[in-house]
Amino acid sequence: MTEAEAKRMLEIPAELWEECPGCHQLLYGRELERSLRVCSKCGHHFRLSVWQRVNFTVDEGSFEEWDADMPLYDPLSFPEYQEKLEAARTKTGVNEAVLTGAARIGGIATGLGIMDLAFIGGSMGFVVGEKVARLFERCALLHLPVVIFCASGGARMQESLVSLMQMPKTAAAARKLREARCLYVSVLTDPTYGGVTASFAFLGDIILAEPCASMGFAGPRVVEVTKMRMPPEVQTAEFQYQHGMIDMIVPRQQLHETLEVILRWATEHTSEASPHQEGQP
Ligand SMILES: [Zn+2]
Repeated sequence: MTEAEAKRMLEIPAELWEECPGCHQLLYGRELERSLRVCSKCGHHFRLSVWQRVNFTVDEGSFEEWDADMPLYDPLSFPEYQEKLEAARTKTGVNEAVLTGAARIGGIATGLGIMDLAFIGGSMGFVVGEKVARLFERCALLHLPVVIFCASGGARMQESLVSLMQMPKTAAAARKLREARCLYVSVLTDPTYGGVTASFAFLGDIILAEPCASMGFAGPRVVEVTKMRMPPEVQTAEFQYQHGMIDMIVPRQQLHETLEVILRWATEHTSEASPHQEGQP
């Protein structure tokens, strides 16, 4: 830290500083927001809330939420699950671990899904699966492309098999979007694991990832408990890119522009041939 930086730090209240988990430097909150919560010292991408992701991604004021009124769902009457769901709703301001809706990116109308790690680890239960499936199906009818920002610890343990059933359900809905000749762009963010990885996260026509995002089917805890032999770099965006599982690694500052280019290309190349053109808003 330079003398000027140290002096400036003393003038700003401590609560406005955040420590970077990557390089442990203290970063000024407003500057961190301006850089889309990417560390200016080491490039670490901080994890985002769904509302930060909305702000950083879509055209200002263009987001319209879908399925915001879905009720809590506790299919197995799992002990203390209802309370946990209600607490997660209060904490995050969303009704489940995914926010869905419509928005514009660079002026292009798009269906949007954003997963929220702060909501029970971004895990996928019935409501998450239902909201993602509805997003695909609605966009197939409206003839809209879909962008989903994935972030998940995997299946929702409190819903057991009901949670696992969301994998084929979301995969089938993604197929309906493909049959309607609409593009699906999946953006993998840190971390994306388990049932989400094994279903809609890796079904994108184009799969993007943020730098250094961790991803895989078995999360770090499962790897540890089962004593799997796996080098740590395997579960990273860079390794998956080198082995052909991901199309591009895109720094957060370039994501909006990259999505705009992809969506513009896709909408210009599918609208003429599509049988669903009359459904376009
Ligand atoms: Zn850093």
